[in-house]
Amino acid sequence: MERLRRIEDGARLAAVSVGERVGVVAPTLRLGVTGLSRSGKTVFLAALVHNLVHGGRLPMFAPYAEGRLASARLAPQPDDEVPRFPYEDHVRALVEERVWPASTRRIAQLRVTIEYESARLFARRFGPGRLHLDLVDYPGEWLLDLPLMTLSYASWCREALGEAARRPRKAAELRTALAATDPVASAREADALALADAFTAYLRAARADPNALAALPPGRFLMPGDMEGSPALTFAPLDVPAHKEAPAGSLWAMMERRYEAYKTHLVRPFFHDHFARLDRQIVLVDVLSALNGGPRALGELRRALSSVLACFRTGRLSFLGSLVDRRIERILFAATKADHVHQRDHDRLEAILGQLVAEARAGAMVSGAQVDVAAMAAVRATREATVTRGGETWHAIAGTPLAGERIDGRVFDGEAEVGLFPGDLPDELPSDPASQAELAEGSYGVTTLRFRPGRIERANDVVLSLPHIRLDRALQYLVGDRLQ
Ligand code: GDP
Repeated sequence: MERLRRIEDGARLAAVSVGERVGVVAPTLRLGVTGLSRSGKTVFLAALVHNLVHGGRLPMFAPYAEGRLASARLAPQPDDEVPRFPYEDHVRALVEERVWPASTRRIAQLRVTIEYESARLFARRFGPGRLHLDLVDYPGEWLLDLPLMTLSYASWCREALGEAARRPRKAAELRTALAATDPVASAREADALALADAFTAYLRAARADPNALAALPPGRFLMPGDMEGSPALTFAPLDVPAHKEAPAGSLWAMMERRYEAYKTHLVRPFFHDHFARLDRQIVLVDVLSALNGGPRALGELRRALSSVLACFRTGRLSFLGSLVDRRIERILFAATKADHVHQRDHDRLEAILGQLVAEARAGAMVSGAQVDVAAMAAVRATREATVTRGGETWHAIAGTPLAGERIDGRVFDGEAEVGLFPGDLPDELPSDPASQAELAEGSYGVTTLRFRPGRIERANDVVLSLPHIRLDRALQYLVGDRLQ
């Protein structure tokens, strides 16, 4: 009996393999790409696809290194209702104009179909393998909305106004508007609009603070996607009393209804239709900006990482019902823009992110997913240089600063190249709050200059792939095992 079952199982496996390999049911891997705004999602996705499609240098990506990658090409995406990631426009910007592409502001998708030779002798007998890699790019701000699903309007008001009280200068306009508002007065659209505007302006100011890196929910107020201007996005917190009900027809009742509509029409569908369907996830993190911002910015980053990790916690998506029994299998946190530091610092950058993720993870029981960290530059805009002065050798980076960038009073024109010492990263961050607070702002600082994307090599008029740092390692972790 036991033997029979094993034979049956074996037959079924073989049948699946044959089916998949002859292309009847090519397997699909859905990879989510996220991170807060400006963390590098657009650049990452464009560079990843460009390197795959153009056979870039990917020595750490096993199917490439072992010569098993037959082809990778763009294919029509499976979900008709999701905008397509404008890959061609982004690559044109990077390769031809040498400018950074326009950043992610909403969800977008792209499918790459990969044909490969299996590394396994048995599987090779069925011909080349095929994998549809569905890449889903979405703003990390949307993940920060998850806690709202279990918060009533009154509780959210208390939390949001508590946050605003911690930022009195940025929230000044909002507080003036709230002071002049009576929550139980009759609902008027003009009042709702004015308050929503003041609230959005405050969230934007909190986010723009280079020393704070704040990302406060609701995430769509800063990244509205296609719902900009709809009533579900026209609400604000009010100073409402606890344990009381909103009177019918009041501004309070109107705001409460819209807050609930925001959850029903924006937050829930996103988690249900997109997030819960992902197999793997890469979370991009601009660690260098947070280091430059000092202890406060690092504190905010820790909080944001905890909120992101909370989305992967067992049972957190229970509000979606029994539909969600799939789990994300692998999560990679990647520190982006590693080309802003010398290669001697790449391991340090990785270690710092590892430390931040470990701290954030301590409170979040991540549901069986493997979690790893990496430092990378999806598009390398600088190169390594050494400068010898007075018999001493200095490690530097060289690149073309963007037009208008300045350093020590010099303004760059977008053409001239410069070599500079980016500064050294610490081996690790002090983890106790007291030592963190003692650190002066900018004490970890590395260069804040922004560089133009580098010139792409061409061979016989064929564009070669975009240069990168450790993009292949990320690819191996996220996809490599599915191309075995
Ligand atoms: P998104 O908002 O997450 O989509 O962020 P983007 O991908 O648009 O990146 C924001 C900015 O970060 C870009 O305009 C670049 O200036 C910079 N950037 C992103 N990735 C890299 C990288 O790999 N190297 C360098 N040097 N800069 C990068």
